Amino acid sequence: MREQVAGARSREPARTVGLVPTMGALHAGHLSLIDAARSECGCVVVSIFVNAAQFGPHEDLDQYPRPISADLEKCRASGVDLVFQPSEEVVYGSGCDTTVQVNTVSAPLCGRHRPGHFAGVALVVTKLLNIVQPDRAYFGQKDAQQLAVIRRLVGDLNMPVQIIGCPTVRELDGLALSSRNAYLSEHEREQATVLYRSLLAIQDAVEGGSRDSAALVRAARNLIEQSGPCEIDYVELVDPKSMQPLSRLEEGSVLAAVAVHFGECRLIDNLLIDVGHDRG
Ligand code: AMP
Repeated sequence: MREQVAGARSREPARTVGLVPTMGALHAGHLSLIDAARSECGCVVVSIFVNAAQFGPHEDLDQYPRPISADLEKCRASGVDLVFQPSEEVVYGSGCDTTVQVNTVSAPLCGRHRPGHFAGVALVVTKLLNIVQPDRAYFGQKDAQQLAVIRRLVGDLNMPVQIIGCPTVRELDGLALSSRNAYLSEHEREQATVLYRSLLAIQDAVEGGSRDSAALVRAARNLIEQSGPCEIDYVELVDPKSMQPLSRLEEGSVLAAVAVHFGECRLIDNLLIDVGHDRG
């Protein structure tokens, strides 16, 4: 990988290297990151690695989809220059005695419900960035806390890479694309549209002047609970950079974030909301 990337850089004119880290099962959300990378970089690398370290003991590691030939075809069709599909052995073969823990940003939201998840993400992203050494790396706003963790990690450790956040790609009915949507039954798939609807309801209320987090969260939780059987992990309003909860919204921007289990399938979504000047 290093040789290939060095080859791209040594060309005249030197090519900017962009990395899109993924766990495969590529969909239009991943392809939008690839398109963003292609528009800004002369050499686009996609990594495909289902990182066991970021899955909890009772999570979906074994059933996680791995349609590798379809993924390679999608990479080819989208003009990806290099696919890095390392084995477990290549990434963790020699063991790893080092932890990468981004403390504050990892703690709330998914961090609270998936202990160890962001340490697993931070470790593998550090490894991938060090292996590929891209100029830019592309991540989806769909995983807003992951993006915040990685921005903080790269800043704190002075890593020479620019982190680019890309907008969430959605189905026509608002459901954010996710490899995990494939787990949903037909009924759950319909019910899952409540995630985005609950985020839009929060946004509408904020635009209408509401600033009380607890009231906004309560209304969104009611909407989700009324959609049918499901288990809510969290509905929260947080600071978009630090991920810390906000009890009262101030002028600026706020991240509304939700995580809900529908049957066996846990889905997350979020929306960045502009909070205007409070005239009340
Ligand atoms: P994953 O394969 O789920 O680890 O995702 C790889 C990258 O694709 C991450 O940076 C995700 O945030 C991003 N991604 C996943 N789903 C979407 C989506 N619907 N829209 C935009 N980016 C996404």
